[in-house]
Amino acid sequence: MRDIPPIPDHDIELAGGALALDFANTVGGTHVRPTHDHLRGYGDVVGFATLAGGLEPSVAKRLVQRADRDPRRAAAVYELGITLREAIWAVFSALASGDAPREADLALISDAAAAGAARSQLVYDRDGVGWSMPSDGEDLERPLWDIARSAADLLTSTERDRVKQCASTTCEWVFLDRSKNHSRRWCDMSDCGNRRESVPPRRSSGRD
Ligand SMILES: [Zn+2]
Repeated sequence: MRDIPPIPDHDIELAGGALALDFANTVGGTHVRPTHDHLRGYGDVVGFATLAGGLEPSVAKRLVQRADRDPRRAAAVYELGITLREAIWAVFSALASGDAPREADLALISDAAAAGAARSQLVYDRDGVGWSMPSDGEDLERPLWDIARSAADLLTSTERDRVKQCASTTCEWVFLDRSKNHSRRWCDMSDCGNRRESVPPRRSSGRD
């Protein structure tokens, strides 16, 4: 059983550039020694998916109600979510360092993405054709399927080579470097980028 890190004193930050990376970044500090964790229960996983993944509020509400009725399964899905998060982080962290990811981590992502795909349907709307999950496909694992799919899509896309890990020694966030010359080194310039010892903090230009 892992130690529960302190409660965060700030909101979730979405600096990853992809749902799966933002999910991996719901932990602060390092993954061995987190300073805080935004995911402290099943409701937090649903909250993250709503904020970052476009999970419809009506679906989120039903999932939370279902979790209240079945707390044991909700706790199990939460634990699975944490395991998935660590697998996603480990895979992208390894690739960012030029290392091979572990097969077990890829299998975890693969299983969750496949579970979601098995329940998805192709539908046509004004944006074109896309994957949609029918309401009777709702399961407590639903937020994890979307996250795993995001990871799988990114892993198999040409953008995979643009995933980097923050250059800070006290931060292990992963992010998609969409800068023109692939020069982004920090998860967040105003945070990790600003703590660089070699560069003095930027002067504020005004009171606001
Ligand atoms: Zn960072």
